[in-house]
Amino acid sequence: MLTRIEKQTEGGTSAPLIDPFGRAISYLRVSVTDRCDFRCFYCMSEHMSFLPKQDLLTLEELDRLCSAFVARGVKKLRLTGGEPLVRRDIMVLFRSLSRHLDTGALEELTVTTNGSQLARFAKDLVACGVKRINVSLDTLDPQKFHAITRWGDLTKVLSGIDAAQAAGLAVKINAVALKGENEDEIPALMEWAHGRGMDLSLIEVMPLGEVGTERVDQYLPLSLVRARLASRYALEDIDYRTGGPARYVRVKETGGRLGFITPLTHNFCEGCNRVRVTCTGTLFMCLGQEDAADLRAPLRASESDTLLQAAIDEAIARKPKGHDFVIDRRTKQPAVSRHMSMTGG
Ligand code: SAM
Ligand code: SF4
Repeated sequence: MLTRIEKQTEGGTSAPLIDPFGRAISYLRVSVTDRCDFRCFYCMSEHMSFLPKQDLLTLEELDRLCSAFVARGVKKLRLTGGEPLVRRDIMVLFRSLSRHLDTGALEELTVTTNGSQLARFAKDLVACGVKRINVSLDTLDPQKFHAITRWGDLTKVLSGIDAAQAAGLAVKINAVALKGENEDEIPALMEWAHGRGMDLSLIEVMPLGEVGTERVDQYLPLSLVRARLASRYALEDIDYRTGGPARYVRVKETGGRLGFITPLTHNFCEGCNRVRVTCTGTLFMCLGQEDAADLRAPLRASESDTLLQAAIDEAIARKPKGHDFVIDRRTKQPAVSRHMSMTGG
């Protein structure tokens, strides 16, 4: 006899995922590992403890999970981390997911990376149907780069970006705006990116996870960055969207696009079309809330996807209207205790 949940999803597993506020879920971000070869000071503490390998979903399980979402109308899939390209055999997952591009079920397969492994993988990514990638880079100054990432090597990242562009990938640079760290360099970073035909998106520091420094010290509102840029450049609001939360302007002098991702100064929840899964199969319906659903247990409980689809339905029915990020000046506690490397941004 079927259980109540099995009955609910029987025959209905191809129905699109619509949350209680009428938002269709079309974008899934999957953190494929919590590990990373960098230790960016706003993202991780220097001495992170990582998950035991057996807690991680296997590549086959990640494929099954992503495919279950694609079957429910997810059109855009972004692999992230930790650093996705340090997960062993990660190209096996890209290759297998690319079948959904071939059938047309998936419109975009993409990745957010720190760039350290791109020289090795750029061509493979293209072969798997990846067309655009995001590379995180906060500074072009080797010493600052080392100070921000603790373990990173700027030369490797820059040659990774060269390799990506040479392989034909469209590259967008993501930079976190950091008070006293890279704030003076933002115009130079923008001119460099635009000069190479790359968009640049600026991100506000989000209060995720305990990282050993105070968020109020790192926080630089993008409203201020934008006002400073506007005194030097002509910024024209444009409609361009990539399915993500960035709002774009065209910079007249460079001809390039500049995006602003402002969770703290601008609420972008209204049009939220995305959910996130961690490498242990935990589904977060909102980056800024603690509520989550375990998809690993239903995934492992049976070979059929019935239980998994039911768990996805139950979770999406709980997707909140929005987040409530605040950097609390009194307690200086992060609004959400998990690190960004868990959900991948
Ligand atoms: N390792 C990859 C990378 O750095 O691109 C992918 C994962 S990383 C967590 C994804 C993005 O989140 C990066 O652009 C990073 O700069 C950003 N990020 C990490 N911690 C953040 C925080 N506390 N606030 C805002 N952005 C953050
Ligand atoms: Fe690693 Fe990316 Fe976090 Fe930096 S931001 S520590 S590269 S996961």
